Amino acid sequence: MKVHPLECGRLTAPLELMEEGKSGGTNMPVMAFLLVHPDGRMALFDAGLVPEMDGTVASGAFHMFLPPGHDVASRLRAMDVDPGRVDRLVVSHSHFDHIAGAALVPNAELVIHQAELDAALQTSTKGYARRTLDLGHARRTTGDSFDLFGDGSAEVFATPGHTCGHQSLRIRRRSGWDVLAGDACYFCVTLSEEGVQPYAHDKAVYLSSLRRLKQMALDGDLIVPGHDLGFMDRLPADTTLQAPATAATG
Ligand SMILES: [Zn+2]
Repeated sequence: MKVHPLECGRLTAPLELMEEGKSGGTNMPVMAFLLVHPDGRMALFDAGLVPEMDGTVASGAFHMFLPPGHDVASRLRAMDVDPGRVDRLVVSHSHFDHIAGAALVPNAELVIHQAELDAALQTSTKGYARRTLDLGHARRTTGDSFDLFGDGSAEVFATPGHTCGHQSLRIRRRSGWDVLAGDACYFCVTLSEEGVQPYAHDKAVYLSSLRRLKQMALDGDLIVPGHDLGFMDRLPADTTLQAPATAATG
């Protein structure tokens, strides 16, 4: 399995919105990850921003940047991958910076937790998520875990708390797993500090998921946080994650 990190935008926001007790600002990559199975099947974990979001502000605080060529479809084409050939899009959760790019992979089956889908479809305040999830993609809903390729090489597993149906994805490597945490863990330091998200859907449940990830890290797994600019510097030698072909620019 090869896993290609694709930076599909940037967000800046006050750090206090990301972690209790912090101040200052933060510059965050918006990540998608392309998984290429040895048999040729391809899946994405999250899909990043879309071009019309560049220069806009969400919730009065999250400034979005997406330079030309950084959207997920452009990133895939730059690797000679047809976006229409992506088989599945694993949706960590239904926030805009994770699902907007679903519109750019029209033939992908969405793999989304049942609770996340229910909340997005039923809550009127989440109109953006509902619209994006209703673009005509096939959908597969998940529960506690889901074997993504049917052979144990990659497992979607529930990490609720950031949202009600948040999920992460782990990919087997020679020893242990590479864990794409999504927003169950924003930054590398979040694990050691047990940093609390002020706007988590459920803080206690979030902390429980974070501690599960922390235990996985103690067991030797690589936890890839959702929005940490420096995480590529921490890759172990046998990771499935591939370094980007060119340095990401913001
Ligand atoms: Zn996010």
